[in-house]
Amino acid sequence: MQKILGIDLGTTNSVVSVIEGSQPVVIRNIDGLRTTPSVVAYTKKGDLLVGQIAKRQAVINPENTFYSVKRFIGTNPKELSATAKEVPYPLIEEENSFKIKCLNLDKVFTPEEISAQVLRKLAGDASRFLGQPVSQAVVTVPAYFNDTQRQATKDAGKIAGLEVSRIINEPTAASLAYGLDKKTNERVLVFDLGGGTFDVSVLEVGDGIFEVLSTAGDTRLGGDDFDRIIVDYLLDDFEKKEGIALRKDSQALQRLTEVAEKAKIELSTLDETKINIPFITGTPTGPKHIASVLTRVEFEKLSAQIIDNCRKPVEQALSDARLTKDKLDQVVLVGGSTRIPAIQALVKSITDKAPNQTVNPDEVVAVGAAVQGGVLSGEVTDILLLDVTPLSLGVETLGGIMAKVITRNTTVPTKKSEYFSTSQDNQPSVQINILQGERELASDNKSLGEFKLEGIPLAPRSVPKIEVTFDIDVNGILTVRAKDNATGAEQSVTVEGSSKLSEDDIERMISEAEQFAAQDKERRESIEVSNEMENLIGKVKVKFEEDPTNEGLKILLKDLKSDINIEDFEKRKAALEQAQQKFAFFNTPPTEESN
Ligand code: AMP
Repeated sequence: MQKILGIDLGTTNSVVSVIEGSQPVVIRNIDGLRTTPSVVAYTKKGDLLVGQIAKRQAVINPENTFYSVKRFIGTNPKELSATAKEVPYPLIEEENSFKIKCLNLDKVFTPEEISAQVLRKLAGDASRFLGQPVSQAVVTVPAYFNDTQRQATKDAGKIAGLEVSRIINEPTAASLAYGLDKKTNERVLVFDLGGGTFDVSVLEVGDGIFEVLSTAGDTRLGGDDFDRIIVDYLLDDFEKKEGIALRKDSQALQRLTEVAEKAKIELSTLDETKINIPFITGTPTGPKHIASVLTRVEFEKLSAQIIDNCRKPVEQALSDARLTKDKLDQVVLVGGSTRIPAIQALVKSITDKAPNQTVNPDEVVAVGAAVQGGVLSGEVTDILLLDVTPLSLGVETLGGIMAKVITRNTTVPTKKSEYFSTSQDNQPSVQINILQGERELASDNKSLGEFKLEGIPLAPRSVPKIEVTFDIDVNGILTVRAKDNATGAEQSVTVEGSSKLSEDDIERMISEAEQFAAQDKERRESIEVSNEMENLIGKVKVKFEEDPTNEGLKILLKDLKSDINIEDFEKRKAALEQAQQKFAFFNTPPTEESN
């Protein structure tokens, strides 16, 4: 039986899960980790890096390190706020889509291609884990993603050589992971606080049907904000104690950010944490270190505003779903940042409910996607999963009025036809404007695309009969067909938005991605070597700062570059390690025997 992966393609991190022996399991990546940063980078030499290895070198290669690409996939630049566009890599705003410029390669990528590299790595690592090739996946997207964003996510899968068997909503996946689909009519609030985004969804779940009643959130709120306030706290403290400002030192900031995240995570289980960063900067009087203690109470005080910012979207989602908190049956936590005790306390205080958190919040979405994958592959048999259209769909008619063809909350897949006619005598063509939304006027709803049906035989107005059919497939992707009954002339469009990639584009991107993957494999060894080298150099540098008079080490450091070839590496590594051992020896307190 072909396995179908469940993939949570996140803004910050991604997770893969699969059904093994009727239970969902999370698959570790090649680095042994259960989550993989959704980060892609290209080095100066043109090497492709994906995941942890790409994240780690972000600070020294910010313009060629692509993260948070999910913000841009299938997105119209006009619909994204200026702050949401702030990333250190060059972003090209085209009329209906974003492109990403990679300076190291002098090449322009679509967000689909970058996401495809993440998907390719996830699927590749999963194939290795399972010992069999996998070519199918269920991929999750936020509930508020529109058709274009969903289609773009599917295209990313295609470019990665994956057939995306189904796109499902993240809160739906989270509910599935908890088996909530088996209950009858429960109202579930899904609180999803990840690394950089915050989503709240209210769903009505039961008997296999998931209906998204409302969504709210903040695309610029997440765990990174907590890291930032700890970094600020440490910077202020250091400046106060030492009179040195470190805000412009990117290496120092990177180290501070890593340590801040670690401290934050520790404070989820401990009452206080020690923060030590040796050699944060050098001064004429010697190296300086950061040594601080942060208590949970202090951390909560510092982050009070961020925590409070999570309140409004929950209240908004409840009010949009026309529910009061006493009508909620379940609260589900998703995303690593929901491990913060103050966040859990906030959710409890707003909803009056102890949140459901027995499934790991980083993994719950991927696990739900794997359950859906199991349903599709036949490995899971006791679930019938039906999704619904979140918004009504229709066409613009005379006077700019929206005529609904499919009303919201219709179970998908679905197909429905309506008859329309011309509004003027001898009208040879009709323009079909496809609309999504609940408002009466076309201009208040979202236009998903337009097309023209031509060749209508001349006739008085209202005489021609034009059959318009809306067809929504299991992924929620819509095809609209218009047919003139008199001539049989037909015109159709699949609504993927105007930024949709053509089949040719996708084919080209697949072959380019494969080419890079092959190159990547070839060069992986050399990348690992230079990483290891950098690591060693870093360690020796620290020793050198402790003993700046050591001439031998000075020469060794000057001579070393991290981009040496593999042949030279072994020789120099031995020299470095020897030097390191020597220092380790000198730094070891004298034993009694040697005294
Ligand atoms: P996600 O996007 O769901 O992978 O969430 C990632 C975010 O969760 C990052 O900001 C992490 O620092 C944060 N995170 C992970 N584990 C914890 C924890 N135990 N306590 C606080 N934050 C955490």
